[in-house]
Amino acid sequence: MDDTILVLNAGSSSIKFQLFSVGPGETLERRVRGQMDGIGTRPRLLVRDAAGAVLADRTYDPREMADASQAQDVLGAWLVGHMGGAPLAVGHRVVHGGSTHIEPVRVDALLVEELERLVPLAPLHQPGNLGPIRSILRRRPDQFQVACFDTAFHRGHPELADRFAMPDWLYEEGVRRYGFHGLSYEYVASRLPELAPEIAGGRVVVAHLGNGASMCAMVDGRSVDSTMGFTALDGLPMGTRPGQLDAGVVLYLVAQKGMDAAALERLLYHESGLLALSGVSNDVRELLASPEPRAKMALDFFAWRIAQLTGALAASMGGIDGFVFTAGIGENAAAIREAVAHRLAWLGLRLDPAANARHGPRISSADAAIACYVVPTDEELMIARHTLAVLRQR
Ligand code: ADP
Repeated sequence: MDDTILVLNAGSSSIKFQLFSVGPGETLERRVRGQMDGIGTRPRLLVRDAAGAVLADRTYDPREMADASQAQDVLGAWLVGHMGGAPLAVGHRVVHGGSTHIEPVRVDALLVEELERLVPLAPLHQPGNLGPIRSILRRRPDQFQVACFDTAFHRGHPELADRFAMPDWLYEEGVRRYGFHGLSYEYVASRLPELAPEIAGGRVVVAHLGNGASMCAMVDGRSVDSTMGFTALDGLPMGTRPGQLDAGVVLYLVAQKGMDAAALERLLYHESGLLALSGVSNDVRELLASPEPRAKMALDFFAWRIAQLTGALAASMGGIDGFVFTAGIGENAAAIREAVAHRLAWLGLRLDPAANARHGPRISSADAAIACYVVPTDEELMIARHTLAVLRQR
């Protein structure tokens, strides 16, 4: 098959993938979505077609799939078998593009070397992202591959939004506020002219609320500020991450509790956030259903921080015309959207309860000063579009 774009989103213990076919007029149609997860523990390959029917569901002995590279081999073989050949191009999600990459680029050996130098800036994600790029490059050097960066959409930030108030040598070394979830924001920006024309050219806060959560200040479809900074730890509280944190807490944990980098990483990436606050779960569905007062407190905290940081982003833009919810929580949790709107009523955010219950797209009431929308994100489609565009520019 020669008209397929393969999109890969590889992490340390899972590889998500989608296949798009390229139709007449360069349209992209999703054919297959799947993932290999539990790598090293309970490996499982689950693949569905566009209508949701299961195409493959297999489990593997962890000994035959102990690491990501073995998982890539198995997945690669399944994909080639399914497609009956190689895809036209492979598009990869890469979390970090450093300070130079402002758009997706074709992969070559030099690029991989450059992206490997960024591993210290994103040690949890970058190695997983680069694994399949490297293995495809080794085995099939002629396969057209494109790297799409989560940081790229934010690279136009003004200097004020790009810096910490710290010495220059740190900035030069790359200690900057990069911002993440860029592919999601870029997709939402691409949808606004059609879905929400009255705000597409204005000042919009987009809240990407999923397992990871951040917000982006967008002016005329371009990012000018983000709640995430140097890493995906800053800004909003998340499922298991605290969000913005007084750096003194980290000093205290090191000096008084003897925590090392590994212990801090565990605490900050896996044991904090809504899970820690609620003591119940990191999953907003479970928190909404829980009778525990601490679950309610965790959700209040989440909505309160979203409202607070909306104030900050609105200040960065000199005002606000629209607010957009996206990602797992933003697209599905009407109660969270209502709680955020309630806290931002002073700013003019008011919802139409029926539209909110229907999940939009427009959910603000007729008398609201700020237009509010739910826009489902599609990072994979964004990657497929970029990949096709880079391929055609060749
Ligand atoms: P990821 O960051 O892993 O891509 P998603 O964008 O898929 O995350 O969001 C996952 C989160 O969305 C889940 O942890 C869950 O809290 C939340 N979520 C999904 N569906 C619902 C729902 N119907 N109601 C409330 N929350 C939901």
